[in-house]
Amino acid sequence: MTLPGAGALEGVGILDATLREGEQAPGVYFEPHVKAAIAGLLDDIGVEVIEAGHPVVDAEISRAVYSLSRRGFHARIAAHARACRGDVEAALASGAGFLGIFLCVSPERLRERGLTLAAALDQVTGAIILAKERQPGLIVRFTPEDAVRSPVADVATAAAAAAAAGADIISVADTTGCMIPGSRRSLYDWLSRFRDELQRRDARPRLAVHCHNDRGLALANALDGLRAGASLVDASVLGLGERAGIVDLAALLAVLAQDFPGSGRWRLEKVAELYRLVSHFSGVPIPAHFPVMGRNAFRHCAGVHSQAALRDPRHYQSLDPAPFGLSPEFSLDHMSGRAALQHALEGIAAGDLDRELFSAVLNQVKAVGRKGRTVGSDELGWIVAWERAQAEGRPALLTQSA
Ligand SMILES: [Zn+2]
Repeated sequence: MTLPGAGALEGVGILDATLREGEQAPGVYFEPHVKAAIAGLLDDIGVEVIEAGHPVVDAEISRAVYSLSRRGFHARIAAHARACRGDVEAALASGAGFLGIFLCVSPERLRERGLTLAAALDQVTGAIILAKERQPGLIVRFTPEDAVRSPVADVATAAAAAAAAGADIISVADTTGCMIPGSRRSLYDWLSRFRDELQRRDARPRLAVHCHNDRGLALANALDGLRAGASLVDASVLGLGERAGIVDLAALLAVLAQDFPGSGRWRLEKVAELYRLVSHFSGVPIPAHFPVMGRNAFRHCAGVHSQAALRDPRHYQSLDPAPFGLSPEFSLDHMSGRAALQHALEGIAAGDLDRELFSAVLNQVKAVGRKGRTVGSDELGWIVAWERAQAEGRPALLTQSA
């Protein structure tokens, strides 16, 4: 039943984009003091880079990036910029230690802008050289947007030019979430070809992956990217971002920490607090069945499952909730069996019901469950008191202890 490790991944880092990509989810905006709280938790968790915003978008975002850059975090604070002087200067003025420059080099997008590939490369390399001259310690990432739908040779030419101009990281973006592991559109294959093309151009930048979730495959594609040699993954809380968003941070952390031992060390016990905070201030609820952070993620329901999981949760769980400060739970509803009820009764110090009363309580729990509700511990105490009173032929006093 124990799982072998999924493989070796050395030195993998996480770039959290909640404050930048996350604000591209409709209706989501984090005020500067909320950004500061979110960034503090991200730094506690130990992500390598916190992408804090695109300073040229507005003055408040610029001030937030400026303020986060001075917090003395372990994480680098990243500013986003198009490949143009104005954006780069705004990003430099924000004091960020990491600059992300993006430009799409697909033939369609270049034609639309009336640009040749050579002219686009001039823009990109000009922006990188400017940034590195002004701030030599700066880490610069170049993202050829929509890389995976662009000719790999053009992307490699752009990436090699960017690296020669001083870019430290090339981020391969699946901007539309179109890649499918194991298919002819696999990110593993694309990135492998891309690495070969880079080596042919004598360029060896660090590689990152930015995977959108349009097909629900963002995390699977990101792992494919790591397998092909990327070492930095973009993620966000709840996967917040454009359209269906990007890789969910908690799921990524769970997989990296539990399935690829040695790939990094993160303080997972802070993740639940981070998700509560971001969900509250983004107005985006955490779906109940969301991996890791959903309220049902470690909750067992059906009688057969609960009975086995009460003996050993690993019978029906392959992820350990403990590093996240969570534990297995057992729901009471129409699917519940005797084991889950006995466990819940012990939880309210009522584990010694006689056979008839126990059956009456179980029937009532199932009756409530058939109405589409689960029974919590308070309600279970009321049911016990009610059924006991019924059995004794007296009115139920719901304030009495069970
Ligand atoms: Zn994106």
